Amino acid sequence: MSAESYFYPQKMGRIILTGMEEVMGVHGVNAVLRNASLEQYIQNYPPSRPEREFPFETISQLQIALEQTYGPRGGRGLALRVGRACFKYGLKEYGSMLGLTEMAFRLLSLPTKLSTGTKSFANLFNNHTDQKVRVEEKEDRIFWHIERCPLCWERKADEPVCHLAVGLLQESLYWLSGGKVFDVKEVSCIAKGDETCTIVIDPIPFS
Ligand SMILES: [Zn+2]
Repeated sequence: MSAESYFYPQKMGRIILTGMEEVMGVHGVNAVLRNASLEQYIQNYPPSRPEREFPFETISQLQIALEQTYGPRGGRGLALRVGRACFKYGLKEYGSMLGLTEMAFRLLSLPTKLSTGTKSFANLFNNHTDQKVRVEEKEDRIFWHIERCPLCWERKADEPVCHLAVGLLQESLYWLSGGKVFDVKEVSCIAKGDETCTIVIDPIPFS
């Protein structure tokens, strides 16, 4: 057994399970929790507290169980939707500390909003969780490098598996831009031997 040394705050664990429940219903979440051998969370989500006690291992197990319960394709689609749902709950918990809702921010150009917003989201993870994220802007793309990733923690896979992060970013960009849709995809993943889980954002929205 591995040491559980990295954590999300309890409230982020609660956000993930609440997002799952919104997308697949309470029976769906219960089935996933059972398949993940995480029965202790059935109708007993973690409290809305900041303590870092929700292990990376648990977050990764939930992704595996999602794929086991609904198949790889179904699980992937659901994980994307769960990520989008999580953004809404995350915004309620953390929105005020992002500093992105003030009038000054709303007046910025779209490229500046995306640049400022993604860095602000990265800081949220870096400051409040054990996840490490680095934002890089180059060649007209924004790269979201997850350097320590809970979603694929200790997983081995042939293709990127951190779909929840893709959904979360899609929804955060939709919100940042006031309703625009962006091309967001994971191009490398620690689970397949890459150094980082990297999600590439094309900052030109679909029309
Ligand atoms: Zn990952």
